[in-house]
Amino acid sequence: MKKIVKIKKTLEWAQSTLREIRRHHASHRSARQPKASTGSAIQYLGTATRRLASTRLPFIHPYLLNCGYKRMANNFARMLSSKRNVRILSLIGAGSLTAGFLLNREHVTAGAQARRVYPASAEYPDLRKHNNCMASHLTPAIYAKLVDKTTPNGYSLDQAIQTGVDNPGHPFIKTVGMVAGDEESYEVFADLLDPVIKERHNGYDPQIMTHPTDLDSSKLTSGNFDERYVLSSRVRTGRSIRGLSLPPACTRAERREVERVVVDALAGLKGDLAGTYYSLTHMTDQEQQQLIDDHFLFDKPVSPLLTCSGMARDWPDARGIWHNNTKTFLIWINEEDHTRVISMEKGGNMKRVFDRFCTGLKEVERLIQEKGWEFMWNERLGYILTCPSNLGTGLRAGVHVNLPKLSKDPRFAKILDNLRLQKRGTGGVDTAAVGSTFDISNLDRLGQSEVQLVQTVVDGVNYLIDCEKKLEKGQDIKIPPPFKK
Ligand code: ADP
Ligand code: MG
Repeated sequence: MKKIVKIKKTLEWAQSTLREIRRHHASHRSARQPKASTGSAIQYLGTATRRLASTRLPFIHPYLLNCGYKRMANNFARMLSSKRNVRILSLIGAGSLTAGFLLNREHVTAGAQARRVYPASAEYPDLRKHNNCMASHLTPAIYAKLVDKTTPNGYSLDQAIQTGVDNPGHPFIKTVGMVAGDEESYEVFADLLDPVIKERHNGYDPQIMTHPTDLDSSKLTSGNFDERYVLSSRVRTGRSIRGLSLPPACTRAERREVERVVVDALAGLKGDLAGTYYSLTHMTDQEQQQLIDDHFLFDKPVSPLLTCSGMARDWPDARGIWHNNTKTFLIWINEEDHTRVISMEKGGNMKRVFDRFCTGLKEVERLIQEKGWEFMWNERLGYILTCPSNLGTGLRAGVHVNLPKLSKDPRFAKILDNLRLQKRGTGGVDTAAVGSTFDISNLDRLGQSEVQLVQTVVDGVNYLIDCEKKLEKGQDIKIPPPFKK
């Protein structure tokens, strides 16, 4: 009882502090950057922010962002990135629910306030025909436990799972079936996301394991493929800007802010990495199609995985591609993730591609930080991205490789599986393979470093090419033993 009174008092105090902040902000509405005239308000906000931080209430973060107080918001984001804090937060007065109410009274969002008339059991989705990770782990009990929760931005479980509910299966890969709307989704919906992550990432347990990062490309060995088989090599990852909602949930303003922040930072790239930003809204249809056909640009938002998760809203507003002059270092903006960072080139020199990837990515991160922003990251989940399949490194290293004999062999699928490799069509994840050329890449992203994953691809693809050569000579091939970390 004592505890409840204390919590109530804290919330009342927070509410009055927020009113104060609002009042100050209203009188300085145009203050994007601190100015001399707004000095006292900023000072007040600073004190209030620190006091609020000590109460560990999460909701101030989106509010500060909305107000444009980016640096303060980022301090909150850092505080939120600790799991322990978030768990404590969600205990305080029903956590984000109350928080969302306090903050968003004027902008009511689905989930938090508009509560169901029907019980959770009546809302439970029909997943009987589904084959995705979400459907395998969403029990009626977990659904009932999470359905009323929202993140501080108002993102709900129903929003997170919609893409998996609407897409029972995928013709080529087993999908995850859910997405995150913001960094906090991974904490608030951990009861579902943790087992999903465990299944998708080969047993990685986010409760007890930590994720390594290693961008030292000099450690890679045998990174040159036989170019009679390998047509092109590519390494990509994603990075999210802390403090802004992810593509399934972001507002138009947030999406435009991502574009502004990233394009602004990329202008600092020098030498071979220096390039130009091409906004989708300024491109002709032909230019866009040419970039897609040449494998440089993401597809139009035709994938139901994208549309059902809300990621195609407002297309093509604030989407675009940045690339260097030789189109070997590219950054996609606001497709599935805030950013996708890509290094690619024709031929089989994966070593050079990975070198450029590491150098470029470190430089991008430095430039983003220089502008006062940072990437979403924590030690258990690594880099935070929209799709749980991309957590950790976010890295997909792949080649377009021609395997006419092996791909017709009944052991092909098992060999790929044991090498922890995935195959896609060469037009992207939603395309079937044309002829016998495939996009072969690492299956895992989390629990192993960038260097380890690219090495897995290098060794695995070399194994596939060896098999192909053996089959050409009429020799037998072996299924390798299952991959051990
Ligand atoms: P991602 O995992 O980067 O989202 P997708 O499967 O959606 O990859 O494909 C995006 C684009 O990248 C497609 O046009 C695809 O052809 C191209 N792509 C992927 N891997 C390679 C590669 N090794 N070489 C050339 N293009 C590639
Ligand atoms: Mg894609």
